[in-house]
Amino acid sequence: MKLLEDRIRAQGIVKAGNVLKVDCFLNHQLDVALFREMGREWKRLFADRPIDKILTIEASGIALACMAAEAFGDCPVVFAKKAQSVNVDGDVYSVKIESFTHKRVYDVFVSQKYLGPEDHVLIIDDFLANGMALEGLAEIVRLSGATLEGIGIAIEKAYQGGGKAIREKGIRVESLARIAAMDDLTGEVEFVEA
Ligand code: 5GP
Repeated sequence: MKLLEDRIRAQGIVKAGNVLKVDCFLNHQLDVALFREMGREWKRLFADRPIDKILTIEASGIALACMAAEAFGDCPVVFAKKAQSVNVDGDVYSVKIESFTHKRVYDVFVSQKYLGPEDHVLIIDDFLANGMALEGLAEIVRLSGATLEGIGIAIEKAYQGGGKAIREKGIRVESLARIAAMDDLTGEVEFVEA
């Protein structure tokens, strides 16, 4: 998506440790008009799928998921919550996810009230790196018995391999910007050719 790629080129900051900072429009200050366009693009890409629920993870996925939900006809958004530990008392789906940016393991959970076998789910998230967050969300969908229709990502660091591993499982992943390489010394970001 050219709009997003242009914004990353203009305002993304490549940090040491393989982290792209996009705080000024995606992770701290939010460009709602850009998010609206991103929501419409995911709707265009997944127009053939009967999506009726959007699943994401707190915190940065929530706003993106809400804009996507609007494009999909105001379907409900459910976000997985992060906790230090979860009392698995039978009324939540719970998985462990290792955070790429914070290098720690979170328990992540969704109430069974909000996800079940009747749901057709699109997962939305801000970044795809090693794929741990998405593998966890996909596992929550599997535990719930819902149908995973696909995954919509804002920025995929394609060279990290998470997307490849998830696509090899037969899950459809649509990323709006796919980074082929980035360099923290020059600040340059290269995108995968569409
Ligand atoms: P994964 O689980 O795919 O390795 O990492 C995905 C999560 O880590 C995303 O939800 C995002 O919060 C965070 N993340 C991974 N790489 C980056 C990055 O380069 N920049 C930012 N801002 N977040 C990242």
